Amino acid sequence: MEHLRNCLHTSIQLLHKHQPSFMSHELLAKCYLALRQSNIHLSVTMKRAVSFFLLASFAAAQSVDALIERQLNTLLAIYRQVHANPELSYTEAQTSALIAEHLRRAGYSVFERVGKYTDSSLQCYGVVGVLRNGNGPTLLIRADMDALPVEEKTGLPYASTRVQRSERGEAVPVMHACGHDIHVTTLIGVGTVMAQLRDQWRGTLILVGQPAEERGAGARALLTDSLYQRFGRPDAVIGLHVDAEHPAGTVGVAAGPTTASVDMIDVTIRGVGGHGAYPHTTKDPIVMAAEFVMALQTIVSREIPPREPAVVTVGSICGGTKHNIIPDQVELQLTVRTYDERIRQQIISAIGTKAYGVARAAAVPPDRMPIVHVRPEEHTPPQHNDTALAQRLEVVFTRVFGRQNVYRPEPTMGGEDFAYYRLDGQIPSCFFRVGAVSPATYQNARERGEQLPSLHSSRFAPDAEPTLRTALRAMTHAALELLRR
Ligand SMILES: [Zn+2]
Ligand SMILES: [Zn+2]
Repeated sequence: MEHLRNCLHTSIQLLHKHQPSFMSHELLAKCYLALRQSNIHLSVTMKRAVSFFLLASFAAAQSVDALIERQLNTLLAIYRQVHANPELSYTEAQTSALIAEHLRRAGYSVFERVGKYTDSSLQCYGVVGVLRNGNGPTLLIRADMDALPVEEKTGLPYASTRVQRSERGEAVPVMHACGHDIHVTTLIGVGTVMAQLRDQWRGTLILVGQPAEERGAGARALLTDSLYQRFGRPDAVIGLHVDAEHPAGTVGVAAGPTTASVDMIDVTIRGVGGHGAYPHTTKDPIVMAAEFVMALQTIVSREIPPREPAVVTVGSICGGTKHNIIPDQVELQLTVRTYDERIRQQIISAIGTKAYGVARAAAVPPDRMPIVHVRPEEHTPPQHNDTALAQRLEVVFTRVFGRQNVYRPEPTMGGEDFAYYRLDGQIPSCFFRVGAVSPATYQNARERGEQLPSLHSSRFAPDAEPTLRTALRAMTHAALELLRR
């Protein structure tokens, strides 16, 4: 009885604070029972009033989830369609048209081909749906749409067999290996459900289908095309990503650092080529490149304060044509990840110092010094989830899914161009995660100590139904909370 009374007390306090529809079913049912059974000091009228309120809340919460449940089969069919028809970054024509079609049907004002890339020869397939529902806050929900050049090996009946031409003109297999198909379907689902729940919220809902996330270019292209000026400056921006390390049915959210800043850097180590048998007549760029790669290893380990997260990775090294020829140059592609702008600048500068240092040590002629190019078009800033917003969402998720199903993800050194939407901290934003692994697979892998297929793996296959249900419930309840009447 003591437990039930505590429960009732907590629930009444919560009811004061939050809109009824956000109470979890379980808690509301408990509260109602507790009230019926309790000998707590409330007048009969008061008891009736509170009972009525609790029941009404229960019904409202149920109606949101019931509505979601009714959409689920349709959404699963959409998901399978999107999964089977992935599109590489910069080519999201069909996927964006699909989002546009569904949002238009749900009553949104829809704008297609939003966005401007730095390279003006590229078409930007951003799609924006706006639903105005009286005075109130503006919420922007973003979903990324692009797939990856990966050959799918999941064995799913709806696996992708699609092949596209890459920018270099070669045929490449394409797969939704990063789960953006779940994000797209969730956006369509949230759009549909929120349109039907118009009596439960107020304000403006902006839904964004964003292209070219994998290239770090889509969010910036939308903002360059005056996203906020044209459709409204949001009071909050939220987005989600499937999580390949957590079981379906769970949601992860944490305040603060979430994803790292990303830089892509091209380095050309130049030497003086010649015959492989006469190295003394050359300046061998292959040997210099090898020294350079080793020199890079001491930037993070010896130059950056140990408590600062930072990564320098050489992802590609390319030079030479034949056994017995010393080439003129070697090309390297690096990625740098940090959270702090000063550390980022320090690392970029150190990369230049190492490259020049190696060249000088090899007595390379001054006109053959290395070229270090930081690609501005492929930079993404770090994501810092707004503290108040993240905490608010955590309360919602805990209520909807139960404490045991909500986790706090560690910050990663992965990057996400979602980070652009916060305008360097001017707009509160929160990026959360939704577990995507089949609970049975998750359990098996844990017991056997096996590694699960990661994002971008050819074997990554979200457990579609529970992942989609969780993503949709999380996003809808979050939206209702942020656009509360
Ligand atoms: Zn990805
Ligand atoms: Zn992704």
